Amino acid sequence: MTDNPNPTAKASGRIGPPFWLLAELTYRCPLQCPYCSNPLDFDNTRQELTTDEWVRVLRQGREMGAAQLGFSGGEPLVRQDLAELIAEARHLGYYSNLITSGLGLTEAKVQSFQNAGLDHIQVSFQASDPELNNAVAGSRKAFEQKLAMARAVKDAGYPMVLNFVIHRHNIHQMNDIIELCDRLDADYVELATCQYYGWAFKNREGLMPSREQLVKAEAEVNACRERLAAAGSLMKLIFVTPDYYEERPKACMNGWGSLFLTVAPDGTALPCHSARLLPIDFPNVRESGLSSIWYDSAGFNYYRGDSWMPEPCRSCDEKGKDFGGCRCQAYLLTGNADNADPVCSKSPHHDRILAARRAADHATTGLEDLTYRNPENSRLFFRG
Ligand code: SF4
Ligand code: SF4
Repeated sequence: MTDNPNPTAKASGRIGPPFWLLAELTYRCPLQCPYCSNPLDFDNTRQELTTDEWVRVLRQGREMGAAQLGFSGGEPLVRQDLAELIAEARHLGYYSNLITSGLGLTEAKVQSFQNAGLDHIQVSFQASDPELNNAVAGSRKAFEQKLAMARAVKDAGYPMVLNFVIHRHNIHQMNDIIELCDRLDADYVELATCQYYGWAFKNREGLMPSREQLVKAEAEVNACRERLAAAGSLMKLIFVTPDYYEERPKACMNGWGSLFLTVAPDGTALPCHSARLLPIDFPNVRESGLSSIWYDSAGFNYYRGDSWMPEPCRSCDEKGKDFGGCRCQAYLLTGNADNADPVCSKSPHHDRILAARRAADHATTGLEDLTYRNPENSRLFFRG
């Protein structure tokens, strides 16, 4: 990696405040999804921030100008102070969103979150049927609970926003998933193919769909869209394709330290929720204020601008569009986060993406072969 000569952002006057604050309240979760984006060693992190510490972070974020606040995890519902934090967010004027598996939710909690001022709830599912859903989630009761809570969210007057992470074991279920969402009267459905970070990177070979599967799934989604529109349904389907099948990378986080600020359960502040896998010393909200973290810390200035870019990005006329892609993906696939994201066909490491695509064409991994995200497996990683 470079010595990183980037000046502090505030001094150079180039950077505005963060717009999005993601509060990862906890890494605790009753489920075990093998595609979880939490770090492999989540069980080895320091103590979670207290309620007072979170309140301080929310205040500092709002003072800086952050407007959107996401509560996620892990499963944020395991925090007993969630309603209190929601109330503080409302008091401060954030637009707040709860991202949940639905496990641990009750109708009474939905009501209390609504009373506290929560603006939006997104419930995640693993599949369209209980068998596959519960096998992927590693929980026998997950599916029924999710159905009940999706309905409870809608009954409370929220839009029903459902999220399905798509991989090679459920990608054949597009029609069934969309039918289920239609029966539930969902308003927005996100069908998001796996992004390969954290546990998903560890399990990539067993999760990544083949191109053939992907093309079929996309055609099914498009056909469903037409059927729904013809029937007068207002349900909105969002199909997010995996960047492993693209020739140009995504403009990751809209640029490093540009709009997004994540605070991990132990207070580590990150430019994106995956960035703690990088060999960079990120600041902690227990030791520094959010403004100094955002504008002045080495971690947040590391990949701002383009002076850090090596070739081929340095002289590329597309660098203002994609910022060289994702630093975490570059690090995971090449061992050096400075490199161009290998998704880019101009990258000298693009062969690693091509190899992953070929492997997906021939993969035979079953659900039982995946490494599930749980404290026991996490401890195996940090013990080595
Ligand atoms: S992806 Fe699954 S295991 Fe990870 S936090 Fe979400 S529900 Fe829990
Ligand atoms: S070479 Fe770099 S900047 Fe150019 S398109 Fe590829 S990733 Fe983007």
